[in-house]
Amino acid sequence: MSRLVMKFGGTSVADIDRIRNVARHVKREIDAGHEVAVVVSAMAGTTNQLVKWCTEAAPLHDTREYDVVVASGEQVTAGLLAITLQGMGVAARSWQGWQIPVLTSDVHGSARIVEIDGTKLINRFRDHSEVAVICGFQGIHEETGRITTLGRGGSDTSAVAIAAAIGADRCDIYTDVDGVYTTDPRVVSRARRLDRIAFEEMLELASLGAKVLQVRSVELGMVHNVRIFVRSSFDKPEDIDPHGVPPGTLICNEEEIVEQQVVTGIAFSKDEAQISIRRVEDKPGVAAAIFGPLAEAGINVDMIVQNVSGDGATTDLTFTVPAADYVRAGDVLATSRAKIGYERLDGATDVAKVSVIGIGMRSHAGVAAGAFRALADRGINIRAITTSEIKFSLLIDAAYTELAVRTLHSLYGLDKS
Ligand code: ASP
Ligand code: MG
Repeated sequence: MSRLVMKFGGTSVADIDRIRNVARHVKREIDAGHEVAVVVSAMAGTTNQLVKWCTEAAPLHDTREYDVVVASGEQVTAGLLAITLQGMGVAARSWQGWQIPVLTSDVHGSARIVEIDGTKLINRFRDHSEVAVICGFQGIHEETGRITTLGRGGSDTSAVAIAAAIGADRCDIYTDVDGVYTTDPRVVSRARRLDRIAFEEMLELASLGAKVLQVRSVELGMVHNVRIFVRSSFDKPEDIDPHGVPPGTLICNEEEIVEQQVVTGIAFSKDEAQISIRRVEDKPGVAAAIFGPLAEAGINVDMIVQNVSGDGATTDLTFTVPAADYVRAGDVLATSRAKIGYERLDGATDVAKVSVIGIGMRSHAGVAAGAFRALADRGINIRAITTSEIKFSLLIDAAYTELAVRTLHSLYGLDKS
């Protein structure tokens, strides 16, 4: 017998029929003798609607009340799934975040989980053989007692955190795709599903644009060593061989991956904007004068490239910010212009970041050099480059994104045969 967390996203619980399908998946695991905690999202579209209502009520609203509103979507799904399971003869009860409790920070709208005590859930497995149906996305702040939410996509994080808290053997994430791919299959038809991927690689993929899992859920999995299995909720429960390995991708420790490729996947993001500060004075404290105010404004800066000054007096500095923050970043820099001292700002929003990821890069030289050559052959200009131990990212014109991704996907032998 093992203990499992099963997480179902919004499209998997979009209506009563799909909730019934979910219940049959849960029953399948119960019949196989496992203890199960289910974590559910709001029904597809619900959270968007709730967010919209908050904004309509007041564009600048109290985020504590925003959390009260948006947390409600998950409550509906959890209750409906518990009812459906009971109707199938499976003992089940729903749990809201505060009932467990899932204790979080008080950053309303994107709270972090501080602690989850799994004792109550474990006791009920033992004494009542009961499925725990848990509202994802929700938590409670210990001191204020107010409801919090974990940021969009946060029920992935709820699921992994619950898995850690109850010592689950695995956290299954049921979603509308059947696993993690080498890149987005809608862009590259020859993208392959990965059988396994290391936490660290998945963390990069998720942070750099792949939308399968919330980034924090992967972080948590890595820290607590929770094996995460991404699989499709649209497979028919009765078609699944209880003894076989179902299609999906296991996110695990790198030691569990036998055949390690040099490159595992390619991520891309078009939600990027480039800002270049021309002829900045080249003196100590300039970087602090630029990035301090941006950080205070909550703007996430990435891909910083600074030239070594030719004349010893001024230099150029380029970096990227999320496209949504582009205008605000420009304002912040204009306001601090006197303090920073620069000639002018240039920028572009029609840029994309393409990233190549693989743990094998640690031990292989020249991986990025191949990419530079291949993109040059296609006439694709590289605006900025950043590298780390297991990835490199290239900033290019957005119009070339698909071509670049396809080129690199073939170059690194990721195409399925
Ligand atoms: N319902 C929330 C959202 O749509 C949380 C989740 O689905 O993970 O963001
Ligand atoms: Mg999601």
